[in-house]
Amino acid sequence: MTRPYPLDRTRNIGIIAHIDAGKTTVTERILFVTGVIHRTGEVHNGTTTMDYTEQERRKGITITAAATTCLWDGHRITIIDTPGHVDFTVEVERSLRVLDGGVVVLDGVAGVEPQSETVWRQADRYNVPRIVFANKMDRTGASFARCLEMLRDRLGANAVPVQIPIGLENDFQGVIDLVTMRAVRYHDGDPHGLAPVEGPIPPELRDEAARYRHELLERVALTDDALMAAYLERGDLDRAQLRAGLRAATIAGRLNPVLCGSALTNKGVQPLLDAVAAYLPSPSDVPPAVGVLPDEGGEAVRPADDAAPFAALAFKVVSDRSVGRLVYARVYSGTLRAGAPVLNTTTGRKERVGRLVRMHADRREDIEVVYAGDIAAFVRLKGAGTGDTLCDPAAPIVLESISFPEPVVSMAIEPRSSDDGNRLGGALARLADEDPTFRVRSDPETGQTVIAGMGELHLEILVDRLRSEYNVLATTGQPRVAYRETVTRQARAEGRWIHQTGGGGQWGHVWLELTPLERGAGLQFATRVAGGAVPREYFSAVEAGVREAAAAGVVAGYPVTDARVTLVDGSAHEKDSSELAFKLAASLAFKEGVRQGGPAILEPLMRVEVAAPEILVGDVLGDLVARRGQVLGTEVDGAGRALAIHALVPLAELFGYVGNLRSLTEGRAYSSMQPSHYDLAPSTVADHVIRQAAG
Ligand code: GDP
Repeated sequence: MTRPYPLDRTRNIGIIAHIDAGKTTVTERILFVTGVIHRTGEVHNGTTTMDYTEQERRKGITITAAATTCLWDGHRITIIDTPGHVDFTVEVERSLRVLDGGVVVLDGVAGVEPQSETVWRQADRYNVPRIVFANKMDRTGASFARCLEMLRDRLGANAVPVQIPIGLENDFQGVIDLVTMRAVRYHDGDPHGLAPVEGPIPPELRDEAARYRHELLERVALTDDALMAAYLERGDLDRAQLRAGLRAATIAGRLNPVLCGSALTNKGVQPLLDAVAAYLPSPSDVPPAVGVLPDEGGEAVRPADDAAPFAALAFKVVSDRSVGRLVYARVYSGTLRAGAPVLNTTTGRKERVGRLVRMHADRREDIEVVYAGDIAAFVRLKGAGTGDTLCDPAAPIVLESISFPEPVVSMAIEPRSSDDGNRLGGALARLADEDPTFRVRSDPETGQTVIAGMGELHLEILVDRLRSEYNVLATTGQPRVAYRETVTRQARAEGRWIHQTGGGGQWGHVWLELTPLERGAGLQFATRVAGGAVPREYFSAVEAGVREAAAAGVVAGYPVTDARVTLVDGSAHEKDSSELAFKLAASLAFKEGVRQGGPAILEPLMRVEVAAPEILVGDVLGDLVARRGQVLGTEVDGAGRALAIHALVPLAELFGYVGNLRSLTEGRAYSSMQPSHYDLAPSTVADHVIRQAAG
């Protein structure tokens, strides 16, 4: 088996940007100049290639992370779509997990916007090497220098110019490459920008180019002693040295090359692709994947090497209308042939892989073999879900999964007609399959179908997809907060399930100790039984009883969390004890323990960001405070026009916020929110929640 593209010519990248910076346009222009698509569609008329669900077209929000592959200058580049809307950071995070490098797109007028900061910090957390594309150089007010300055001041980035613009705004014509010191210009007769012309630097820009090149040389030399020595000796670095220095430092996360252009007017796209090839890592330039060996225990690595055992991580499930279920996976090591068996170590299931496909925008290519470093989609792999490890059955490994937060909001959903009702369940199951933060359950008391997710907007979009993609009409009830219960002090409680009647009796008897834990710790179970008072064989039944009771809730019907439950004592009967009896006893003891443990309600807090014109900031702040919001800070945005407000606000106070903000500010402010964490609800709120549950 020979791979069609050597590993060092493989790039898996994400285009990372705050909404509206131009991520969709940049992606589309890349697909256009690499020949994947043959015409370009403007974002606003809804024909772009990447945003393929109708939902996205209408809202202009990219939600689905599709991976698409293109070829450039002997390199194979796979672009993993990352959504720019901060309400969907979960999607961003799972994309960041499987890509090797990123292109951060900035709006050349606004520069680093408050939300650019959010995505930058996420990329920092995953150590994603990045280059920056300062887009929209054609817009009035565009400034490359300001973008550089803001990258440094706001993000603390070591932003290194590798290009400067030729002309700006209406007169933007192309870029000067500071490595080659050549101009790349686009001409009026070439509206699609397919034939940029290289030439000498225009005389009026020579000084500026020399100044920026000096800055480039200094910043690169500072990252490496040998380069510094060469630079000090000659006062310059040659092309090869400069490129190698930039590449090594970018991959190490020590600097970020900054480019510029205008995607809309097709300028600067080819040099951007050159920079992806030159500066961003191949799969072999990043640390190997690490996992746990399920059989023998301990850790092992899976290097980006075709000869190593096959290991891949499923990162996205998509229901495709024509081929069915597609599982996108990142191959970390080894190779896999279509038709070969693969072990899903997350589910324990062994399956044969039917087809393997690579996506080129909306065109599918069947492939025979996937190699280390590839991103491909597995067709009809039944049991696999997001975060699962797929590997060689002869060399099982479990790669670190992708963690998803628990839903914070839920609502009942009802089909409009019986025909809708027949299809609702199937459609919801598919949506939940694709989106691990979306859950569907049926309420045992009311029999209603309940959907749960990360926020009102999240659920609204999913209900809309039901209509647009599955043609299912449904109405939803009031959104409900997913509260949780916890204990605030230590407690000990007894549970007895003892019935000794004529025939076979039942004997389950336990003492449990409950200890409050810090926020986010979850529910932990431990045992500390002396002298075999409770035989070991019943421990798992006790744990099951505790977990079942915790899931159902004790004082208000919400799951109990952030506590340690320890089995400390009890008794057993030689003949009459059973797993069921211990499970029931544990459940009784747990409920009693929670009641004695100073039960309290936890409520989800949302991290809210609002951008508003300065004169409206007072109103917006006042409104947030009235919603029990805690203001974390305010800042001026890039263009100095608007202020961004950061606050933590209980989700319960945020229903309908988007609409209220619109009327409060006459549509001049916009907001985004995402779950932050759970914290104790004030007693007035807790009392209300508990009373409501009591009916
Ligand atoms: P996304 O939300 O980051 O995907 O951004 P889009 O690609 O949807 O672009 C947002 C808006 O900016 C659209 O109206 C685009 O037409 C516009 N846009 C994108 N790139 C440029 C550019 O280079 N110059 C100008 N003037 N507008 C652009």
